[in-house]
Amino acid sequence: RGKRAFIAGVADDQGFGWAIAKALSAAGAEILLGTWVPALNIFETSLRRGKFDESRVLPNGGMLEIAKVYALDAVFDTPEDVPEDIKNNKRYAGASNWTVQEVAEAVKADYGSIDILVHSLANGPEVTKPLLETSRKGYLAAISASTYSYVSLLKYFAPILNHGGASLSLTYLASERIIPGYGGGMSSAKAALESDTRVLAFEAGRKHGIRVNTISAGPLRSRAAKAIGFIDDMINYSTANAPLQQELKADDVGNTAAFLCSPLASAITGTVIYVDNGLHAMGLAV
Ligand code: NAD
Repeated sequence: RGKRAFIAGVADDQGFGWAIAKALSAAGAEILLGTWVPALNIFETSLRRGKFDESRVLPNGGMLEIAKVYALDAVFDTPEDVPEDIKNNKRYAGASNWTVQEVAEAVKADYGSIDILVHSLANGPEVTKPLLETSRKGYLAAISASTYSYVSLLKYFAPILNHGGASLSLTYLASERIIPGYGGGMSSAKAALESDTRVLAFEAGRKHGIRVNTISAGPLRSRAAKAIGFIDDMINYSTANAPLQQELKADDVGNTAAFLCSPLASAITGTVIYVDNGLHAMGLAV
């Protein structure tokens, strides 16, 4: 049978998660999505009304088919972790069973197992603030939503990830180089994510035979990136200074994700793979 993938962090057709879904689908995988609870309604409505039909078209002429969309808030691991104000929030009222543990249980009940787990989500409430002006609360929120969310997903999904399966996250160069403007502890969250990639590769590799990698992506005009505020400058900077002077396409990352999750990459684990037109390798911009 073909492989089955769960992709967390898709709420429109503009980001990396969507492109990864398309590339995996084009390679024959069955696609399950995890969509942030507050964004779920509009995403499902848009899907149903055909708003994404043009971007659902695959290179082979087929269409991206989404087997099921699960409500997910990766900041909460179990129902006991959900505070009253969230439970009573009207943006959460229509959905249920959206903590990480419950979503993993639901996927198990619906499909039994998966082969591929993708984490394509991040959130930093103080991302526009310099690190020196970031509050403890904002910093910890960035780590919780952008990094621990991955540890938690892998923890709860590992038991239903088939042996030989693959797991993937998305990171950014700000983890290892100074990117002024990528604040709020988001640079710290990405550094932790890259370190966790190595430790999780060891632990999940030994225990479950699962590979764990992360893609360090160049700048893309996604919804999340637009919220940071300087995405156009980053794209212009990359186009001017990277070895390859072309704008990064979400599909560039999607295709690499499909490779990394395929048997072609069966000996690759614990790595950071750059899909950024080579920008990370520059020392002096010319
Ligand atoms: P995006 O807006 O398409 O994806 C981010 C998703 O995270 C959204 O769908 C949002 O609803 C979801 N999300 C936020 N908080 C959540 C939570 N608590 N639970 C579940 N879902 C939640 O934007 P994107 O740029 O494609 O981001 C995907 C990944 O790529 C992120 O890890 C991001 O840091 C990384 N990345 C982006 C860029 C870029 O320039 N866009 C560059 C490098 C890395």
